[in-house]
Formats: sequence, structure tokens, C-alpha cells
Amino acid sequence: MKALTWTGVNQLSVEDVAEPTLLNGHDVIVKVRRTTTCGSDLHLLSGYIPFMRAGDVIGHEFMGEIVEVGPAVRHRAVGDRVVVSSFVACGSCWYCAQELYSLCDNANPNPGITEGLWGQAIGGCLGYSHAVGGYAGSHAEYIRVPYGDGSTFVVPDGVSDDRALFASDAAPTAFTGVDLAGVRPGDTVAVWGAGGVGQLAARISELVGAERVVVIDRLPDRLQQVREVIGAETIDYTSTDVAAELRELTGGRGPDVCIEAVGMEAHSPGPQGVYDQVKQQLRLQTDRPTAVREAIMSCRKGGSVFVLGVFAEMVDKFPLGALMNKSLRFGGAQVHGPRYIPRILEHMAAGALVTEHLATHVMPLDEAPHGYELFKEKQDGCVRAVFTP
Ligand code: NAD
Ligand code: ZN
Repeated sequence: MKALTWTGVNQLSVEDVAEPTLLNGHDVIVKVRRTTTCGSDLHLLSGYIPFMRAGDVIGHEFMGEIVEVGPAVRHRAVGDRVVVSSFVACGSCWYCAQELYSLCDNANPNPGITEGLWGQAIGGCLGYSHAVGGYAGSHAEYIRVPYGDGSTFVVPDGVSDDRALFASDAAPTAFTGVDLAGVRPGDTVAVWGAGGVGQLAARISELVGAERVVVIDRLPDRLQQVREVIGAETIDYTSTDVAAELRELTGGRGPDVCIEAVGMEAHSPGPQGVYDQVKQQLRLQTDRPTAVREAIMSCRKGGSVFVLGVFAEMVDKFPLGALMNKSLRFGGAQVHGPRYIPRILEHMAAGALVTEHLATHVMPLDEAPHGYELFKEKQDGCVRAVFTP
């Protein structure tokens, strides 16, 4: 079958690879109908995520149809139209019992690999490096999904493939941030990044009752989608002092919750030279964590800052003093998909969560390298490139 493989930094190639087979009684095989680019793939592409191997099939946000089920699968059947959680989870370990599914103790077959990097292994994500399992990804005609019962979700009849696709990763990531950051009715929420994750974090904040939501980015097409589809306010960080504007919008106080949905490749104006020096001294690979810093500095005293953007290693210029002295709560997470996907599908079925507008470019799998180029360079208004194997 055809699949999109990572062959090196900034190199992708459509190759013929072996079709997946059931390896474990709990597996299912899914025939992929829609699979999309995610900001997280850009970190892989740029070489910021460790433990990639040439030939790895990437892709982790997708939906499709079950074509084979393992003998231990109880609740799924051939023919089910499903959306799949990017992080797969056993559903029965200590972490799954806490609903911290991306930390599942049974989903990562290489638990030792990230000990030096993070102190501990986390769970398993499809198509996202050997740091999180080394599973083949979804930019392919078929994919093996471990723990089929807990990692796949039947899409309700009224929800189209195009909408359900984003219940796989972008929407549950957004929900993870909104929920774990503790957004409450009446809150003002600021979101850095108007990609799929940031836009949906803004919309889900509204769904849980936030009174005012402001999204910060520099790309005009994305900011326009935020205003017109999501219904939130926007700030262009290239022309505005973000922290000052946020204080102005909140009577001098600052947002109650600040969500970062940008990640490692963040570039924004500022003293790049200074950071480059620090980066060199500390031998860091990562770029300036500008959005994280800005979120901490902008947040109101006693507020909450949450990092959804992906970071792999140590980053510098972290305003620990502001965090401590302002009584901030600070957190971050990989998506706990199975905790939020059922609620997301309900919101989608009710028409309260629309996502189709994110799919600005739809193309066959053969054209995936071009799709990634558009997505990476944010060309032609690309928010997400969707492939249809
Ligand atoms: P994306 O690349 O489509 O969007 C990122 C946006 O951030 C872009 O619109 C860019 O213009 C904007 N940006 C860059 N610098 C900025 C700054 N300083 N301030 C404000 N905005 C800035 O990516 P996406 O798919 O929306 O994903 C966003 C982040 O979330 C990525 O880091 C991705 O890896 C991460 N992510 C995390 C999870 C998770 O489980 N935690 C899941 C999916 C994606
Ligand atoms: Zn588990």
C-alpha cells in the first residue's frame, strides 16, 4: 500500500510499504478515509522531535472504517465508521484510570527511550516517533490501531467525515487544554496560535462558558477564520503589544486563562539575537519560546497558563519569577483523547463545534509532500492539508 514516510529532516516521500496486520488481540485495522497534517508534524519534519527513523510512516489525525478486528476486541466491528485517538490507551492501567490517557503505561513499547529526556516514558501516539511508541501512522491506506476498543470512537450518523476528522486530535487537544487549565464560566481566555488547535481551544472555551475569548497570531487568513467562524476576538502580534492589549481588554487585570497553542517553531519579532546567544550557550535546539513567555507575563495574578504546543526538550528564558510571584498555575499536556472525544462528537452532532473550515486543502495521498510544504510555509492560506487515501 501507499504511505507517506519521513526520510530525514525536511524530507518526506510517498512509498510502497507492507499493509499492516493484527499483531495483538486488541488491535483493529482501519482503512483511512481522511488524514490530516497537524502542527506537531512540523516539529518532526524540522527534526525537533528525537527518535525518528528514516522510513517511519507519519500522520496521527485521521478517521476511517474498521476492516478487521482482533479476537479480544469487544465493542467494535468491521464496517464501523470511526475516528481514532492519536494517543492510544489500554484503558485499564493506573494512568488510564485517572483519565490521563496520553500517559498510559501500556501503550509505549519503548519505555526506556525518553527516560533521560523527560525522566519517565509517556504513552503511545500513532505516527509520532519512537519516543512515543514508534507506531506506523495514518498517512497510509491502512493503519493498525492498538487497543481498538478504547482508542476508536464510532462517528454519529449526522457527523460528516470532514467534521469528524478533527475529533481525532485537534479538538481533543484543545479540550484537554481548556479543561486542565480550568476555564470557568465568565472567564476571559487568551489563546496564542490560530492553527487548528488554537482555533478549537477558543471555540471549546466558549462552549464551557468563557465570556470573552481572544486569539493571538500573525496570519491574516487564520485571524479572519477566528473572527468569522469561531466568533472570538483577535490580536495580530506583529502590530500590537500583546500583553498591553490584553490588559486593556480586561480592565487592567489580564486574562484569567492563557493557553499556548504554538509550539517549538514559534517566530515572532523580538530580540532574536539575544535568544540565539542563550540558545548557543545552553546548546538548545529549540527556538524562542516567545508565546509561553508572553502568556506568563500577560496572565492575571492568580490565573492559569497552559501549554498545548509541543516542546521536546529544555527551553530557556522561562519567567519563573513571574510564575511564582503572581501565584500562577502552570501546566501542559499531550492530548488525553479518549477523555474528550465522546463529548466532542456530541458537540459536533449538535452543530456547536464546526471544524470543516480548517481543511483548506484536500488532496490525494500522492500529493502529501506538497500538502506539507503548503502547511509548513503557511502558503495559500493553508490551515490544514487533508489527504484522502
Ligand atoms: P499550526 O502550525 O497550524 O499553528 C501554529 C500557529 O501559531 C500558526 O498560526 C502561527 O502563525 C502561530 N504562531 C507562531 N508564533 C506565534 C506567537 N509568538 N504568538 C502567537 N501565535 C504564534 O499548528 P497547530 O496544528 O494548530 O498546533 C499548534 C501546536 O499545538 C503545535 O506545537 C502542535 O505541535 C501542538 N499540538 C499539541 C498537541 C498535544 O497533544 N498537546 C496535539 C496537537 C498539536
Ligand atoms: Zn493505560
